[in-house]
Amino acid sequence: MKKLLQILSYVTPYRGRLALNFLFNLLTAASSLISFSAIVPFLKILFDSTSKKEATVIDDDSGWLDRLNVIFEQYIREEGAQQALLVFCGTMVVLFLLRNLFRYLALHQMAYLRNAAVRDIRNKIYQKLLRLPMGYYTEERKGHILSRMTNEVSEIEWSVMGSIEALFREPPMIILYFSSLVAISWQLTLFVLVLLPLTGLIVGRIGKSLKKTAKESQKELGEVVSAVEETVGGIRIVKGFTVEDRFWNRFQVLNNGYFRLMVRLFRKQYLASPLGELISVSTIAMILWFGGNLVLEGRLLNGEFFILYIVIFSQLLSPARGLSEALVRAQRGIAASERIDEILLADERVLEIEQPKPVKGFQNSLEFKNVTFSYLDEPVLKNIQLTIQKGESIALVGPSGGGKSTLVDLLPRFYDIQEGQLLMDGVPLGEYEVFPLRSLFGIVSQKSILFNDTIRGNLQIGNENATEAEMIEALKVANAYDFVMALPDGLDTNIGEGGNKLSGGQQQRMSIARAVLKDPPILIFDEATSALDTESERLVQDALNKLMVGRTSFVIAHRLSTVQHVKRIIVLEKGEVVQEGTHDELIAQEGLYKRLVELQELGS
Ligand code: ADP
Repeated sequence: MKKLLQILSYVTPYRGRLALNFLFNLLTAASSLISFSAIVPFLKILFDSTSKKEATVIDDDSGWLDRLNVIFEQYIREEGAQQALLVFCGTMVVLFLLRNLFRYLALHQMAYLRNAAVRDIRNKIYQKLLRLPMGYYTEERKGHILSRMTNEVSEIEWSVMGSIEALFREPPMIILYFSSLVAISWQLTLFVLVLLPLTGLIVGRIGKSLKKTAKESQKELGEVVSAVEETVGGIRIVKGFTVEDRFWNRFQVLNNGYFRLMVRLFRKQYLASPLGELISVSTIAMILWFGGNLVLEGRLLNGEFFILYIVIFSQLLSPARGLSEALVRAQRGIAASERIDEILLADERVLEIEQPKPVKGFQNSLEFKNVTFSYLDEPVLKNIQLTIQKGESIALVGPSGGGKSTLVDLLPRFYDIQEGQLLMDGVPLGEYEVFPLRSLFGIVSQKSILFNDTIRGNLQIGNENATEAEMIEALKVANAYDFVMALPDGLDTNIGEGGNKLSGGQQQRMSIARAVLKDPPILIFDEATSALDTESERLVQDALNKLMVGRTSFVIAHRLSTVQHVKRIIVLEKGEVVQEGTHDELIAQEGLYKRLVELQELGS
């Protein structure tokens, strides 16, 4: 029940519409009910019961049924059978018109409601994605997030919203129909109430047994399929060891097992339908018998109303089934909603302290004091000691996995350190306001991350208020001006998903132009030229060099030749600084740097 409320919470912001939907559903049910009642005078006219018998006499003891009966009879007598027939038929059409109008009005609200709720969930997840810390995005989680955004949200879209639709449609119908059954004959209704749980029990049993067999068969089928997969995958061994017979026998056992199960499943399924029919006919027969006796006994129930009773009863079954299906569907939706909550409730880790210090640019130095950092358990950086003065460039080199990217990721606080201190101008990074701190950094990484937008739009990510002249200037610095001008729409050319309409080198120069526009005091180049061919590398490197003038920069490079000129080269291995110096100093030492240079020279 609590969970059901949780599902309802998706639509509670739209209470007004929900109320309207409910109201129209109620009106639909009411107009259906009245239109069914037209069956009574219709039967009276058809079987001419009004003229045959004497007028029903009513006294103070008469119930509302008798009174209604008299009203119908009087009307038929006064108007004549044919005229009355016409009026009743006309009324029926009008009532059905109303019923369908109300039904549409209810759905009209529902269309807005269910889709608005789904839109809200998507928005919530997306907002959360933007807020979650970088550490949340492991490769495994990225997959989960995508599947949740698509599969689970569409599960909610269909299961939850479908069941909400039913939860607001079926109950008014059930309540109204059921109360009219009680009003027509409480004796008969009592009898039905005793009967229904009995038949429900039998039907439920059959359904359960079917479900169980179906589940078993799914499992068996899985085994059959995986046996085939395994054989295909290992066919070399199967043939090489000539064990085909052994595999054949094993497969036959599995396949026959599945076969027998499926035969059982189908027989049960085939049995379910005739059995179901038998049960419902027996139920109806018992009601007919009991109700018929009431009619025959005289004053308890009138024949025409008994037929009306049967009509309403038959109409009651479908909303009842609808409601129980909605509850089952809601269960599935609840599971999906819980999986979505895993994202929505994920720890955001408040990045900012209570009263963060404002960032007044980058003044003096960045300092790593004994910094140790781990993503999980193993430390990826160990006791890093490093001071970088404003305006200085450093190169980070070393074998991959050594922690170079991690080290630079700590600076914009993509991750927070666990031990030691990381200071900017003598203040721990954690004490600054986060967004202004991040805006100090310009990042160009190996995979240029561009968005499906125009050149202009992508540049605006660097600086939203950049003028056209500034953009052109930036493109020039980044050696990107010529190729951009050659594009069909210049700055307004869309560059495709991830910038895929541009070559690798062009993409990289675009990200440099973006960094130029941001005009950050600190630059981070993470393997910015690694993926490029020599020609583009030259253009990109040239652009990077221009950008680096007068700024503090961190250059991570795999190809050591690209950082030879950098005055301070830091060699990282397994999370530790193992060497530091200029290229000449390092090459003069017997150490990792020299070995790496030699290896690369051999390779090229
Ligand atoms: P480099 O840049 O020198 O190649 P990285 O800083 O990328 O090294 O990686 C250092 C170590 O940290 C590697 O062992 C890598 O597997 C691990 N690592 C990197 N990113 C993550 C992450 N998001 N979650 C867990 N481990 C990571």
